[in-house]
Amino acid sequence: MNKIAERLRQIRTDVNNAAFKVGRDPESVKLLLATKTAAPEVIREAIIFDQNYIGENKVQELARKHPFLNDLNLQFHFIGHLQTNKVRDVLKYANCIQSIDRMSLVTTLDKQLQKEGRSMDVLLQVNTSYETSKFGVSPEDALTFAQAVSAYDTLRVKGLMTIGRFSAETEQVRKCFKLLADIKDRIAELGLPNNEMKELSMGMSNDFATAIQEGATIVRIGTAVFGQRMYPDSYYWNEQKKTT
Ligand SMILES: *Cc1c(COP(=O)(O)O)cnc(C)c1O
Repeated sequence: MNKIAERLRQIRTDVNNAAFKVGRDPESVKLLLATKTAAPEVIREAIIFDQNYIGENKVQELARKHPFLNDLNLQFHFIGHLQTNKVRDVLKYANCIQSIDRMSLVTTLDKQLQKEGRSMDVLLQVNTSYETSKFGVSPEDALTFAQAVSAYDTLRVKGLMTIGRFSAETEQVRKCFKLLADIKDRIAELGLPNNEMKELSMGMSNDFATAIQEGATIVRIGTAVFGQRMYPDSYYWNEQKKTT
């Protein structure tokens, strides 16, 4: 077995164990491969399970790799900051957009989806760590945002996504995941149209066990499978925040 497949098997085992530990069905946790910077042939080595979820952060990168992976049975999730001028392109390749974080993006997506006569699965991104470097609506605005998004039936809201605080202190990270789970429950209580609130996309290589303890249904794993990336994450995350 190649190294990547080996690491992935280990991670799946760790994910399953984390779920067992808190009395959850391991099948209720999807493992999404965060594949930024990984070449298609490298990604291929990680396609060893029946269901495979790919997460990409940049539309150009997704567009570039998609033709080389198209023959595999993959679900492509977009997990990066989405600029409105990339909406048309991302809709060509994504099965789910996890990073819905502002109304201008919602209206732009709706317009294009109406034009194409279809709908899209989405998650709402919440900035549970309150770090200015991260995107997402603030926890205080999340309910109002979910309400506003529910008016658009081109967008099927499946749940919430967050990036936890980067901290060696597990309890600081846990706070973010607890908050997201709590917001999910409160939105679910509203019984909004086009809104299911069943997915919690949270947890990465360093904190997925904590996220699973707090109810994660999708963990997004990069480094632990593909190894250290050549580019720092700031290249993907701390880009100038745009309001449009
Ligand atoms: C890169 C990335 C991940 C995976 O992070 P690792 O620490 O490499 O596992 C998860 N979510 C998002 C949004 C990412 O950009």
